[in-house]
Amino acid sequence: PSDVRKICVIGAGYVGGPTAAVIALHNPKVGVEVLDRDHRRIERWNSAHLPIHEPGLNEIVRLTRDGAIFSASSESERDSDRPDNSSHHVSRRGPNLFFTCDTQVSISTADMIFLAVNTPTKTSGVGAGRATNMRALDGAVKDVALYAKPGTIIVEKSTVPCGTAQRIRNMLDALRPGVPFEVLSNPEFLSEGTAVKNLMSPDRVIIGSSGTSAGKLAADALASLYAGWIPSSQILQVNAWSSELSKLVANAMLAQRISSINSISAICEATGADVEEVARSIGLDSRIGPQFLKAGLGFGGSCFRKDIASLTYLAESLGLEEVAHYWSQVNAINIMQRDRFARKVLRRFNENLSGKKITLMGFAFKRNTSDARESPAADVISTLLDEQPNEIAIFDPYCVEEEMMQEIKAVIAETSFIQIYTDPYEACKDSNAILVMTDCDQFRNAPLRGVHSITTSEADSSSIGPSPDLRPQQAGYLGNDFAKYMLALQPSCVDNCPDCRWKARGPVSIEPVEWAR
Ligand code: NAD
Repeated sequence: PSDVRKICVIGAGYVGGPTAAVIALHNPKVGVEVLDRDHRRIERWNSAHLPIHEPGLNEIVRLTRDGAIFSASSESERDSDRPDNSSHHVSRRGPNLFFTCDTQVSISTADMIFLAVNTPTKTSGVGAGRATNMRALDGAVKDVALYAKPGTIIVEKSTVPCGTAQRIRNMLDALRPGVPFEVLSNPEFLSEGTAVKNLMSPDRVIIGSSGTSAGKLAADALASLYAGWIPSSQILQVNAWSSELSKLVANAMLAQRISSINSISAICEATGADVEEVARSIGLDSRIGPQFLKAGLGFGGSCFRKDIASLTYLAESLGLEEVAHYWSQVNAINIMQRDRFARKVLRRFNENLSGKKITLMGFAFKRNTSDARESPAADVISTLLDEQPNEIAIFDPYCVEEEMMQEIKAVIAETSFIQIYTDPYEACKDSNAILVMTDCDQFRNAPLRGVHSITTSEADSSSIGPSPDLRPQQAGYLGNDFAKYMLALQPSCVDNCPDCRWKARGPVSIEPVEWAR
């Protein structure tokens, strides 16, 4: 768009980084600068090892940040960070993606500022446990008020409570009286693990504005940034409240499906029903659809729980107690599911883990991400530790040890029994049980019957991801067949991703782990 030459994205996180990279990719004439207070994070964004793992992200960052090298036709679809030599082509362009800690310069030179800072749940004060902690957002708005030039368009990218656009307007009015700023809501719907794919072809883009003519002009300016790669029929302009609420509702509905099927898995385990068969049977109903119907350990991550808490808090503040109770049950079932899983493991060891080593494969909150925030694994470990195992071993192909320990320490005081491995073989060695916590591509469940090793030829051939005949399970599947499945490992990433620690020593062979019955 002609009037937006320079964008500043405040918050170089899981949303800010990939969003900025994809906007930069599709708007080569627009300078996109990502600003963060965290120097270490910015350093990593400026290095060869990005701070987050997202399939396809490396290529786009290298192209937009370093001004060229190569691009691959279907990079967003592959689960690797290195393009396939046969399909890539070299392209050259000027760099237009930058990462910086210089607040004043970055904000004062921007025509449009995206707020993509973290908005966690409050842990103390009014609404603790439910309301949104607005500190980071308010801090960013104060910086905007201090340095932004008049007329700069402010875009809420963070997930925020309803009414935040108005809150930002009020803050700006108080801190910079008489200076015009338009505030838009533009929630992000990407999923970690498929962020690039989601950003490249989103189902929709929602832009909420004040509805005034200046608001509509600002919304048009933002829409034209997206128009570079998204059909206009998928760009929806609505009012700011609707836009803010839509994001909370989208996450609440997705999480609700997970809790719904998980609640049914409890019934399946107590009866002869198989939750996978039930899910398939109901998912074929076109009114229901097949997605988000995998029973498992439940949802983790930084978004679903907190957004449901925020929706609950909103309903409570509006005096809608039944509505608040209804949505809070989605989180309640999720906690129940993790607990049920951990207790099931304990039962198999007669509630006594003394002298036992338990291995957790996968710690991230889901497959193909390095994000350890609100990992279901941490809660499972906490329950297992009550029975004093000899060791809890953890392996994750993408998570950084420091971030895993931070999550663990948030729920567990005594961490000396916990061992984090960078070698999956060592993690599994002499283990009494291996718990597959994520359906990561590197982990596959194979029927116990005879299949306890994968030969090189099998590992090298065909698919990297779980194959249907091996019946991939979602994290911590609890179905009737759980005990019949064991872990098979495959060195899928060996030549594909630079960061992956899955440097397998040739063919993988793991002896079957006997479940104590
Ligand atoms: P994150 O914690 O990964 O990143 C936020 C970044 O903002 C951090 O690096 C932090 O240092 C920085 N920051 C905070 N205050 C700042 C300030 N005043 N100035 C400069 N930098 C500041 O968070 P995230 O996962 O990217 O999420 C960001 C927002 O997007 C949240 O509101 C979240 O709910 C929403 N969201 C997240 C996802 C997801 O999958 N992670 C998806 C959709 C929406």
